Amino acid sequence: MDRRTLLTSSLAGMAAAAASAPETRAQAGGSGPPPFAETMAEMTWQEADAAAKSGASVLWAFGVIEQHGPHLPLGTDVYIPSAVLRRARQILAERGHQAVILPAFYWGINQVSGAFPGSVEVQPATMIALMADVLSSVKKQGFARVFCTSGHGDALHNKTIFDGVTAGRAASGIDAAVLFNAPLVKRLGLDTASPAVLGFEVAESPARFIDVHAGDPETSAMLHIHPELVRKDLLPTLKSTDYGPADLAEWRKGQEAARAKTPLGYFGDPASADASRGAARLEGQAKAMAEVILARVGGK
Ligand SMILES: [Zn+2]
Repeated sequence: MDRRTLLTSSLAGMAAAAASAPETRAQAGGSGPPPFAETMAEMTWQEADAAAKSGASVLWAFGVIEQHGPHLPLGTDVYIPSAVLRRARQILAERGHQAVILPAFYWGINQVSGAFPGSVEVQPATMIALMADVLSSVKKQGFARVFCTSGHGDALHNKTIFDGVTAGRAASGIDAAVLFNAPLVKRLGLDTASPAVLGFEVAESPARFIDVHAGDPETSAMLHIHPELVRKDLLPTLKSTDYGPADLAEWRKGQEAARAKTPLGYFGDPASADASRGAARLEGQAKAMAEVILARVGGK
């Protein structure tokens, strides 16, 4: 077979494979907001300049590309905090404080789900260096404050966000801080008196079993934000994992141990998800974040 024939036949093979593969939601045409929606990526340089000069804060969501069970997309941890920040930005504006949203950071640490296809891993040092560069660049543009939130539970990932914030502060003098919920601040052992740490409280309804990954909370959030990306037909088939603390400790060993503990990739109860609960939770998080940001910037 000559090169041209080979190319033609391999293209024909790819087309046949694509035709027989189940249609992806992206091909079907999603209706949710695109990843850059309401971020600085949609602004012109003059608009960014004016925002910096007006004293706007910068909001930055951190997620990862990571498996989220058979029913949620790999970008779940990016979609959710991005939606929370869009709402937090509205609340801040209503209260008289302007903010801009940096495009989300989506390459990160996947110690737990790294053994699954679809989970992309980077090293902490890579992430810290990139964060320090971005934060220094944002400072150079004239922005004084950056608030970093997380959509991904992996402890090392969140510790690395804190380390990146610390590196950015040291490199540029920018007032950057992680904006984490109180249980995460506690789990990481972060010093709440540090200017690089801002904790916020959200009321969580008590659950009978632990639900930490692609279960009820995340599926509910996605049903609210991006219902077209949830494989709703699969939800009734996904049995609750009904796991407790010992299972969580085993899962958190990560990689193959996590894959063995949760062969389908979720840890929780996706079938019980509900869009209106997802909406309420998102609203609660956005309000709690806006509150601590306003306290920090001296707003009301
Ligand atoms: Zn997640």
